[in-house]
Amino acid sequence: MKRIAILGSTGSIGVNCLQVIQKHPQRFKVRALAAGRNVHLLAEQVIEFKPEAVSVRDADAAAQLEELLKGYNVEILIGEQGHIRIASMADVDLLVSAMVGVAGLAPTIAAIKCGRDIALANKETLVAAGSVMMDLAKEHGVKILPIDSEHSAIFQCIHGRDKAEIRRIILTASGGPFCHRKDLESITPADALKHPTWSMGAKITIDSATLMNKGLEVIEAHHLFGIPAEDIQVVVHPQSIIHSMVELIDGGLIAQLSVPDMKAPIAYCLSYPERLDGVIERLNLTAIGSLSFENPDTDRFPCLQLAYDAVKIGGTMPAVLNAANEVAVSGFLAQRIGFMDIPRVIKHVMESHNPIPYPAIEDIFAATEWGKDAAHSISS
Ligand code: NDP
Repeated sequence: MKRIAILGSTGSIGVNCLQVIQKHPQRFKVRALAAGRNVHLLAEQVIEFKPEAVSVRDADAAAQLEELLKGYNVEILIGEQGHIRIASMADVDLLVSAMVGVAGLAPTIAAIKCGRDIALANKETLVAAGSVMMDLAKEHGVKILPIDSEHSAIFQCIHGRDKAEIRRIILTASGGPFCHRKDLESITPADALKHPTWSMGAKITIDSATLMNKGLEVIEAHHLFGIPAEDIQVVVHPQSIIHSMVELIDGGLIAQLSVPDMKAPIAYCLSYPERLDGVIERLNLTAIGSLSFENPDTDRFPCLQLAYDAVKIGGTMPAVLNAANEVAVSGFLAQRIGFMDIPRVIKHVMESHNPIPYPAIEDIFAATEWGKDAAHSISS
């Protein structure tokens, strides 16, 4: 029986994760859940999965949850300290890190320091603090298993291979809803929230539309697999059937394919190194017919290039890119700024930042706060 804790249980990844767990009650036990403010869904999850403890974003949410769970025996914790307690609970085998944004960083670091294996969806943590997290994981003997479908694909393609055999990684991108649209300035939040192939939370859906999601994934892949960013190529593949590829030094390509369904990489993380039977619909290649590929357009979608620039500069710059992006995406969703202002805000903030090389975790938290403040001052 694998004992699981989930950060972000009420989100798209969290809910998919609980659906996989629900089908395998003999294999998995939910020990703890953490969420933000969706207390109604969290209360339903507590009643169904009976965790010992939960945490929520603030005291208001805790009071509402307590009211909904009168008579249930569950400890209710509050805020970042509560999330850290959930992430570092004893008797947990795997922490699913699926909060959105840098809010997940402190609890994920706490879990690594306790030697907990991590199923990582929250890519922003690795973007902000990749070197620190990977060093800590090594020091504490922790496995970081990727939930992101592209990174799960790469993980599966390189499994058991010597790193010297790998020439480069090819990350596939759906291209988002505006791949071929000419007028990007007039895009509204409602337009951008309609993703053609994946159903996800709001922030990652906007990141997919700007191609920042792919930029964050380049940085994530760089840290997870120890491959230089210049050896990570992004290829637009609108069907989202090939989830990513690895090119070997002899010119061979290894790819991982499936229907686009996040339950597949989630289930692989939960059951790793075993595989579960019948997790997703099987792929019918002849029904798909053809697969297509094209280069991303970094002139129309500057966020991807900004991410390559940030990882090349290194130090605290990726944390600042990530922080500025979080603020700019919130500003766009609240209709304070336009779609193409997102890359403008990030570029401006990056240009004003004096990066600290080889940052400690405190430098990353400070750079994140600085990046958020700098982005707020030009986007609100
Ligand atoms: P959602 O927006 O659907 O869910 C986010 C989760 O984080 C919710 O449970 C939310 O709680 C919680 N949350 C947000 N802020 C806080 C906070 N301050 N304190 C506590 N909890 C908080 O996002 P997704 O599930 O789509 O994405 C989660 C992460 O996984 C992101 O980093 C994303 O990039 C990554 N990812 C997602 C994929 C997908 O298919 N969705 C694919 C690959 C990666 P509440 O709703 O209760 O407020």
